[in-house]
This record gives sequence, structure tokens and C-alpha cells, in this order.
Amino acid sequence: MEGVLVVAEHREGRLSPATFELIALGRALAVRTDGLRAAVLGSGVERIASHVAEHAEVVLVQDPLLREYTPGGYAQALAVVRRSVDPKVVLLPHSSQGFDLAPALAAEWESPIVTNVVGLSIEGDQALAYRKILNDKLVAEVELSSEKPFIITVRPGGKASDPLPSPAPITNASVSIDASKLGARFVRYEKPQVQDIDIASADIVVSAGRGIKEKKNLALVEEFARAIGGVVGASRPLTDMEWLPKTRQVGQSGKTVRPKLYVACGISGAMQHVSGMKDAGTIIAINTDPTAPIFEVAHYGFTANVLELLPAVVKELKGA
Ligand SMILES: Cc1cc2nc3c(=O)[nH]c(=O)nc-3n(C[C@H](O)[C@H](O)[C@H](O)COP(=O)(O)OP(=O)(O)OC[C@H]3O[C@@H](n4cnc5c(N)ncnc54)[C@H](O)[C@@H]3O)c2cc1C
Repeated sequence: MEGVLVVAEHREGRLSPATFELIALGRALAVRTDGLRAAVLGSGVERIASHVAEHAEVVLVQDPLLREYTPGGYAQALAVVRRSVDPKVVLLPHSSQGFDLAPALAAEWESPIVTNVVGLSIEGDQALAYRKILNDKLVAEVELSSEKPFIITVRPGGKASDPLPSPAPITNASVSIDASKLGARFVRYEKPQVQDIDIASADIVVSAGRGIKEKKNLALVEEFARAIGGVVGASRPLTDMEWLPKTRQVGQSGKTVRPKLYVACGISGAMQHVSGMKDAGTIIAINTDPTAPIFEVAHYGFTANVLELLPAVVKELKGA
């Protein structure tokens, strides 16, 4: 057998939507391979397994030591699954769990690995994977050739699978996890800061950068954002200085936003910031420096002092 194995991801009783995206990709690949199976690993996860079985055949591995994710526990369970399923490719989400587990598996199975993949095709022992690189500016084609299973982490955000007409079977695989080989000890989940506003789902984001100079000037940005029905985001220096919570940070180490309108106020346009906002519908940049890189991604640019322009615009909007 040489099929596709999807590793379902779940936490605190909830399945990650990425699982169904992997299943959709797995179905497309399974047309040319020997079927698709999803591994559900955990303890007391029958309900999750049933949910996954609405989309794909499930191999269920349960053990008290799999209650919480650990790389060693999951790797031991997947070694058992591998013996029964013999996959040609293992698909994991490119999530913090996926990119922790995938290299561990690849090292143990001596398998080739490609991470953060946006497209994949497989023909026998050959595979072609596509991954975006250099802040998504280029797509790299990665050719793989191996008799071993390919280990692939897939970037979330793809199309999710539709349920099957009737649920697929669930097969139980028994495992005895060695507690001395878990590789990590689960302590607790740290919840993110409670956030007042979800900038990722807003239609209009007005972001402040270091160009606003002082924390008190955030009030200007907030007033402008309110006037146009938007929410306030920020570049990293502002969240580092704790002028705004981390949940408002746009960029590589913050949130990716795709609002209809993004207004960058006093933001230089470093690639780490741009990677989080470049897909906005319309981008307006306000910056005193006409050579600032933010103007390269902006649809409309104002070479202006944001501390003068925003109050003037708000005045106009209020007067209108
Ligand atoms: C691993 C890593 C991850 C990172 N992740 C992120 C991230 O997620 N998000 C992020 O934003 N950054 C991130 N950064 C930091 C990033 O590289 C930049 O340092 C940061 O984006 C710069 O923020 P800024 O544009 O606000 O400040 P600056 O680069 O200092 O730019 C300030 C801009 O304001 C303009 N300006 C000054 N005064 C005015 C005025 N009165 N009116 C109008 N314009 C004015 C200036 O011309 C300048 O262009 C990351 C860096 C690293 C190394």
C-alpha cells in the first residue's frame, strides 16, 4: 500500500479546520495513490474520530499519554500507523504542532521533508512540492525522489473537504506509548491575550508605525480609524513598546490581515510588516519619506506628516 496519510490536528476537544484542508489535498493526491487515511491520535477522542470519518477513513490511536500533543508520543503512535498504512506521503498542517512534529518524523523515518507547502503532486517515488519563499515573492519548486514516505507540512488556508456521502470506517490501532520517549512534557496551554478587536476580520485597518512618534498620538490614529469605520493595527515597534497589545501587530510575527482598506500611518514598509498586509484590497500609505518602501506596495501614497494629515482629514470628515 502506498497511500496518503493525513495527521488530524486537534486541541482541547476541537479539530483544527486545517485537518479538512489536508483531507481535500489528500483526496486529490489519492486519485493517483493507494487511498487516503487520516490518523487521529489522542485519548478519549472518539467524537473527533467520528467527525473526521465523515470525510475520510480513520486510523484511531488512543493512549493516555497521547492526551496532549508531544512530538515523541505522536511519533511513536505514527510509527504504528505507518506499519499498517504504509503511506507514500504524510500531510500535516504547517502549524506550531505540525512544524514541530514533521522534522522529528522525517529524522526518524529518514524521509524527505518539505514545509509550508502550497501545492503538491506525486508520481510513484517522485514528488513535486511548491512553497512560497522570500516573503511570498517567489514560488520554489522542490523535487523529491525517495522510496521513503514524503513528509509535508501544508500551509493553512486551502479549500476544505466536503463530507463523504456516508461516514468512512474507523480502524483502531493499539499502541503502548513509552513515557520516557515523549521528548517534551506538556505543562499547560497559555491562552493569548484577550483581544478587544480582531484586526484579522476587520474590513478597514488603520495601522500606526513609529512615525507617530509618541504614544499620545495614537489618539489621532484611533479617531481617524473611528471616523472611517476601521480598527487600529500597528507595526511591531509599537507593540514591543506596549503602546498597543500584541494582538494588534500586523506582519510576519503578528497577524496577517486582508482588509478591503489598509492605511499605513508612519510605517516604513519593512518586509516583515508588508508580508502581513500586502494582500489588502486597497493600501494607502502616509509617510514623510518619499523613498519609503511602503510606497512600493501602496495603491495611493501621501508624502505627508501623518500628525498633520490625520487631524485635517478627520476635520473634513466631521464637517462633511
Ligand atoms: C524576525 C522579525 C520579525 C518581525 N516581525 C514584524 C512584524 O510582524 N510586524 C512589523 O511591523 N515589523 C516586524 N519586524 C520589524 C520590522 O523589520 C521593522 O523594524 C518594523 O516594521 C518597522 O516599524 P515602523 O515602520 O513602524 O518603523 P520605522 O522603520 O522606524 O519607520 C517609521 C517610518 O515613519 C516615517 N515617519 C516618521 N515621521 C513621520 C511622520 N511624522 N509622518 C509620516 N511618516 C513619518 C519614516 O519616514 C519611516 O518610514 C520584524 C523584524 C524581525 C527581525
